[in-house]
Amino acid sequence: MTRRVLITGGTGGIGKATAIALQDAGFRVAVNYFINDEEARNLTAEYGINTFKWDVRDFYACRDGVKNVEDNFGGSVEVLVNNAGITRDGFLHKQTLQNWEDVIGTNLNSVFNMSHAVIQQMRDNKFGRIVNISSVNANGMAGQTNYSASKAGIVGFTKAAALENAGLGITFNAVAPGYTKTEMVMKIAPDILEKIVSKIPAKRLAEVSEIASIICYLASEEAGYINGAVIDVNGALRT
Ligand code: NDP
Repeated sequence: MTRRVLITGGTGGIGKATAIALQDAGFRVAVNYFINDEEARNLTAEYGINTFKWDVRDFYACRDGVKNVEDNFGGSVEVLVNNAGITRDGFLHKQTLQNWEDVIGTNLNSVFNMSHAVIQQMRDNKFGRIVNISSVNANGMAGQTNYSASKAGIVGFTKAAALENAGLGITFNAVAPGYTKTEMVMKIAPDILEKIVSKIPAKRLAEVSEIASIICYLASEEAGYINGAVIDVNGALRT
């Protein structure tokens, strides 16, 4: 069955790999992004994947964005991957309110905004898959009070929403990646990144394809009995 999937932040490292993997698996894929128009154009030109620009921090932009995507598909979103995310690192005593609000807005409020925009239709259809991207650092990482709080919040959201919707053929799951080779991680200073990698039992970063493949599985028909789970993909790293 060809299902319709929407991925937020689908022009970035993990999102793009997931978009391509889901398209290869036979899904119809639409991608949201925020700023980088060139990446979006490239994704459409190279893979024929349609891209839609809006800010996932904005509840009403999400509602309207989903409506646009559904008009374009000619049907409702059946699979949602809440993947958009940012970091604005800094120790608490030096953090700004702006950074706190940007990270909570982009990483956590977006999960509410987007899930809210699709859930009633999924309930009516008695089918849905929502995959939320958390992080190994949901467990707490120095310099990331904002990011850790947002990613831990996703875990609670996922488990609660799974309980509410499991009886209607809808699954909510989270994937918690470890350090993965994307722009977000490549922004870390090389000496600090080297220290991080030395502490990963697998002794390497994850490839984006290693995160995309589990997201694809959770999006599939076969994964219907996995619900409210958090799947760690982190090379055995514990934070
Ligand atoms: P990237 O920085 O490569 O991509 C981020 C994506 O999110 C881009 O498409 C970006 O679009 C989009 N985005 C950012 N802000 C907004 C916004 N306000 N509205 C809509 N889209 C937005 O990130 P990764 O691929 O590394 O990360 C993907 C997810 O995985 C994130 O949630 C991240 O927290 C999580 N994660 C990543 C890890 C890693 O090691 N990379 C580890 C654990 C979790 P644009 O560029 O146009 O702004």
